[in-house]
Amino acid sequence: MSTTQINPNLIQVNRYHFINAFPVREDDGFTLVDTTLPRGAGELIAAARGAGAEIKRIALTHGHGDHVGSLDALRQQLGQSVEVLVPDLDARIHAGEKVLDGKLPGQWPKLATRPDVRLTGGERIGSLEVIPTPGHTPGHVSLLDTRDQTVIVGDVFTSIGGLAVSNHFNLRFPLAAIATWDKTKDLESAQRLRALGPSMLVVGHGGPVRNPTQAMDEAIAGAGG
Ligand SMILES: [Zn+2]
Repeated sequence: MSTTQINPNLIQVNRYHFINAFPVREDDGFTLVDTTLPRGAGELIAAARGAGAEIKRIALTHGHGDHVGSLDALRQQLGQSVEVLVPDLDARIHAGEKVLDGKLPGQWPKLATRPDVRLTGGERIGSLEVIPTPGHTPGHVSLLDTRDQTVIVGDVFTSIGGLAVSNHFNLRFPLAAIATWDKTKDLESAQRLRALGPSMLVVGHGGPVRNPTQAMDEAIAGAGG
């Protein structure tokens, strides 16, 4: 695991060199965005405490196993007072509801944790605004930090080997496209994020991209948009 202070409010915790979670600093402690694979709870809690505060809530960008993997263990170790916020459609998929036709790509583990809040877009989580960005998964959301216009984009983009939209095969990181549910919606979500004019992108897989406008334009063009 490695922990990097990206900016004053944002820490990137990286596991296995390719999966990120993000403690976001708020007045009362951290909002942890995503949880990586299983067996990461201790490291994620230690990363927050090392930065001087407790995890107060956990928000997920989407329901894939490499983002929700340590959720149950975190809930167990931190207790019920930690609020859990999950995209509505992805939570319903976890719960075994048949929310759409056809087979869903990607790994969808069984979770014991039931979300306290189901996200559909437009909500506020402390300083973060929830942006609906479906496509990679049915319920996928991104989180805009209204303090500095940084956006946590989950798996809409990846940045391993350069910024790319997850709607098409990318030799540098093929897992994201293989796991993507609706390629057209995913591209529309990439365009929605571009329209926000973010100051920085942070992604589930790969490093942060500062001043990302040009890289986003190129990635969207490369994705057929
Ligand atoms: Zn994913």
